[in-house]
Amino acid sequence: MATTPQNALPNLHDYSHAQLLELLDELGQPKFRAKQIEEWIWDKGVSSFDEMTNLPKALRSALAERCTLGGVEQVVCQVSTDGSRKYLLRYGDGVAVECVGMPTGPKLAVCASSQAGCGMGCSFCATGAAGLTRSLTASEIYDQVLHVRDDFGMRVTSVVLMGQGEPFANYDAVLAAMRRLNSPDGMGIGARHITVSTCGVIPQILKFAREPEQFTLAVSLHSAVQKTRNMLMPGVKRWSLLNLYEAMGTYVDMTGRRPTYEYALIRGVNDSEDELQALVDFCRGNLAHVNIIQLNEVPGSRFRPASDARAGEFVRRLEKAGVEATIRISRGADIDAACGQLSQKKRR
Ligand code: SF4
Repeated sequence: MATTPQNALPNLHDYSHAQLLELLDELGQPKFRAKQIEEWIWDKGVSSFDEMTNLPKALRSALAERCTLGGVEQVVCQVSTDGSRKYLLRYGDGVAVECVGMPTGPKLAVCASSQAGCGMGCSFCATGAAGLTRSLTASEIYDQVLHVRDDFGMRVTSVVLMGQGEPFANYDAVLAAMRRLNSPDGMGIGARHITVSTCGVIPQILKFAREPEQFTLAVSLHSAVQKTRNMLMPGVKRWSLLNLYEAMGTYVDMTGRRPTYEYALIRGVNDSEDELQALVDFCRGNLAHVNIIQLNEVPGSRFRPASDARAGEFVRRLEKAGVEATIRISRGADIDAACGQLSQKKRR
């Protein structure tokens, strides 16, 4: 059970249903209280026990003596002209992470973090440059989405775990958070609208293929040329592109689902003719969707986005080879949109 250094009490958000039943049993309370409490935590997102108005006062006090109500504190919220909002959120132990809310009409997509910092060291990423602070618990991941939902006052229609961190380096917590997001007792978001994005941690891709839910998988590819990928993504160089190709074949065979490959197009690095051909060869004949992403410029980074014309050419050539491809529109270009930029700024 996670605790905060300032307070030795456990966080009620970290209790499983079974643990909550155990606690209620200790307090001599009936089982149905668990459902009421879970509704206050996972649906209403209350920040104090006093707000749980359908619980007897004595139970509210007993809970407050034994637990805290974790939650997150908003440190910064930057609002983009396109309506998206980027947050820096802090947990009880002072660790902060970023997440983003992106509204489109009645829909609200949330990009959440799975770790504070990241140990993968991708060379184009501000988070990677700062290293890993710690992994998040399932409730800490869920709480980001809850915060965005309440800030917008809208139902969240999709979630991508594509913020800070490598989700598959924190597999159990990430899966538990995805399940809670999916559950009707949680946020009730359709499994296909919950996406986990990995650098390509192969043992966990194979494990993920065996999970029963229809969650969506995205893989950060960024290059189908081994030397370039090793330079861009040193954290996964122990697994070759051939290993990844085979693992993704297994994933598709087992699930029948179409994975997405993320490809951040970087001028002079992975936008050449050879790189394009290698990407086409990697995807051709396989179930795949390629997202070409125009890189967000990170101050101090040597990497620059490729031209729009080049991005268009990548999409055309992939489609000609029968591979689904789109250019992902970069949201929040006027705020610190690249993952890790906001937390770095607060550190300075
Ligand atoms: S791109 Fe993702 S996996 Fe790579 S260092 Fe950044 S946060 Fe980590």
